[in-house]
Amino acid sequence: MVSRAARPNKPEGDTHWARLKTPVDLPLRLGAWYRVVAPVTALEVVVSIQGTRVSVPRPYVELRATPPGEWTVVRNAKVRPERTPQGLRQAYIVCPGCRRRVELPATRLAEQLCPHCNETFPIAWDERPRKKP
Ligand SMILES: [Zn+2]
Repeated sequence: MVSRAARPNKPEGDTHWARLKTPVDLPLRLGAWYRVVAPVTALEVVVSIQGTRVSVPRPYVELRATPPGEWTVVRNAKVRPERTPQGLRQAYIVCPGCRRRVELPATRLAEQLCPHCNETFPIAWDERPRKKP
């Protein structure tokens, strides 16, 4: 059915990364990039989450070909209060290296050190989240 998408095996290095565009009931963290582990089709994107393959409807994600290198700023996320520390409920930033959440800096820092993976990345302050349809 999707013969158009049947491409020959691409060499390694053609990895894609996917990120949720909208909060949906999937085990993906809003703002975090996940490695795509199967060919992307018009219908779905399969990502790896801690070794588990999870299928995500294609319209829900944005894709990029290069590994993420900036913190994603997430505001007003619909988090689960019982699973989210107080400081992260309104807004947080997501580490591109380890996908952990960190409190949004009070000032507009250019870079932030991740206390979990000990790496410093720039913060993508001006990334505009997409509006809901
Ligand atoms: Zn990190």
